[in-house]
Amino acid sequence: MTVQPFSFQLLNRQGRARAGIFHTPHGDLPTPVFAPVGTQASVKAITPAQLIELDANLILSNTYHLYLRPGDELIAELGGLHEFMHWQRPILTDSGGFQVFSLAEKRSIDPDGVTFRSHIDGSINRLTPEKATQIQEHLGADIIMAFDECAPPYDRSQIEQAMEHTHSWAERCLQSKSRNDQALFGIVQGGIFPDLRENSARFISDLNFPGNAIGGLSVGETKAEMQTVLEIMDDVLPQEKPRYLMGVGTPEDLINGVLRGVDIFDCVLPTRLARHNAAMTWQGGRLNLVNSSFAKDPLPIDGDCQCYTCQHFSRAYLRHLIMAKEMLAATLLSIHNLHALIQLVRDIRQAIVDQTLDAFLLKYSQLIDTKNGDFTKDLID
Ligand SMILES: [Zn+2]
Repeated sequence: MTVQPFSFQLLNRQGRARAGIFHTPHGDLPTPVFAPVGTQASVKAITPAQLIELDANLILSNTYHLYLRPGDELIAELGGLHEFMHWQRPILTDSGGFQVFSLAEKRSIDPDGVTFRSHIDGSINRLTPEKATQIQEHLGADIIMAFDECAPPYDRSQIEQAMEHTHSWAERCLQSKSRNDQALFGIVQGGIFPDLRENSARFISDLNFPGNAIGGLSVGETKAEMQTVLEIMDDVLPQEKPRYLMGVGTPEDLINGVLRGVDIFDCVLPTRLARHNAAMTWQGGRLNLVNSSFAKDPLPIDGDCQCYTCQHFSRAYLRHLIMAKEMLAATLLSIHNLHALIQLVRDIRQAIVDQTLDAFLLKYSQLIDTKNGDFTKDLID
């Protein structure tokens, strides 16, 4: 008997925006959904219990990092990633490709795969579609990704070659996959070129993955270019399967993505901002809590926010923790920032279900016109 552990159900739409449920072996994912990033099998400074309290439904972990340290086989021996990190809700792993191209120190790409030097210990490693799939099977996430090549967005000839690799590697990932309790998503590439994007989306759609991902965005292109690509994706990718926009998650990009038919997002932004002593707010933009203006400020980060941090702690206390280099600062700021994005996505989902997107957009219009949108400025680690 064939078990069908994954199915996607669309509940409602408004324009291109969709509200749905993706059923997985570790529970239902209400979509649109925002996934906090736990690069090293840990969402930095946050316990799984706190993630549950925030009602995070999905987290992302990075194959490249876990393969290099502590090793996918060790994680498999200890029961897989869910058991290892004590997270029983859905997990998504990337294929390692993006990190190989952005982090590894020395790499050479050939039609069969990529050889690279570890950024941790300098060791030589090789990833192929088969190897990336095997590592992700050892890790055991619910959603796993095809091995792909992400090229700079404007270099047409390099993108054409990367697309060729990405397409043949997608077929090889499908062929080498052996577990039926993981959903393998294909990845569309093609930079900012509409014809290449359309070609890639058709090719990947034809392979009939249970879900499709949009790679190679938020890597230096303009907002308008990203939006054009997303509209092409919405026209070409199958409506009845989830779409995942990889590595995108500023408030503005989330809203613009949902409005163009994206269902799944992930981004390091909320926890990375927290480690830079910054909080996301909708009215005031980015608050850099290290500023002396907050030294005696009795107000919470955001008076309208229902998170644990805003319910109990003043800006003055948070600034004190930062100045005293207390670790609790990162935890409390991460709780607020994660809550802000998770709540934003919950609100937009409810608006799609209720067909009240116009009212939602009016409420959040200050985000969309980017006046407060410099959340990503000077984030280096
Ligand atoms: Zn808050």
